[in-house]
Amino acid sequence: MSLSETNKGYVPRISQLDSIILNEEAYSLLKSQLLAAVKYVGQSSLTRFEPEIDAGLRYILLKCTIQKARSSIGQQLLQIKYDDLVSNKRLRNYVLLLVLGRWLKQRAGNVATVVFRNENAGLFTSQCINVFEILYMVSQLLNLLVFLKEGIYPSVFERMLRLKPVSSNIRNIRKLSYVYFTRELLWHGFAELLSFVLPLINVQYFHSIVRRLLPSAVDNDYAEEQEVSFHQHTTCVVCNCPPTLPHNYGCQHLACYYCIHSSYALDPTYSCPLCGHTIESKVQIIPVYTVKG
Ligand SMILES: [Zn+2]
Ligand SMILES: [Zn+2]
Repeated sequence: MSLSETNKGYVPRISQLDSIILNEEAYSLLKSQLLAAVKYVGQSSLTRFEPEIDAGLRYILLKCTIQKARSSIGQQLLQIKYDDLVSNKRLRNYVLLLVLGRWLKQRAGNVATVVFRNENAGLFTSQCINVFEILYMVSQLLNLLVFLKEGIYPSVFERMLRLKPVSSNIRNIRKLSYVYFTRELLWHGFAELLSFVLPLINVQYFHSIVRRLLPSAVDNDYAEEQEVSFHQHTTCVVCNCPPTLPHNYGCQHLACYYCIHSSYALDPTYSCPLCGHTIESKVQIIPVYTVKG
């Protein structure tokens, strides 16, 4: 970090770039709200005058933020403002450049056709505007490279008008401590390890071991009934839902086809969670067809 960057009012490059994105987001939000409000007026008149509506809306927004408050919406959110040394006239010119630049890009061809009463003049003007746009894009790219080195003026217009951004709140510069970063890195590493290891662990197996260690979880009264009961309140012993393709496995309880087969495949010593009956072989798992009441 050079000496000038540590000066009072230094704004990080990332905040300046973020503020530009936030501005566009705020504008598109405003425009979508306006379009939603007038959607029953008729789409044809709206689309015909879209460049004018666009320019008007943008002008109002920029006049209220950049010209009046000396910072755009995005800049206000990130506690940036234009330096007090920047004159109001330069801010006004900046707003006009932003609004007219966009409007001309969309309308120059039509305006030239009307003014010169000639189709070719309109075409020629459109081509000129295209060339200007390409030049603008190239200069924007070059400006970005200079911006990344110097850290001020993220856009060409700001550089042209020397609109220097400063932090409006010295104490609130985005600062992240080294301790915070280390903690974040450690946590992410741990979370990644968990997401890799957890699927490899047979949770069902540990579940059944714990269940066997807790004798109170097994209801011995059930063991005395030997008849398989299947009625509308019967639930699967594994997933606790009404069983899909109900299967019986030696005791009087039922489970879904998928639940019991997957449980047995994961843990060959699988026992019924309700009565503790252990499945001796896969042959014991048989479908239940009879439905009572
Ligand atoms: Zn089930
Ligand atoms: Zn059972």
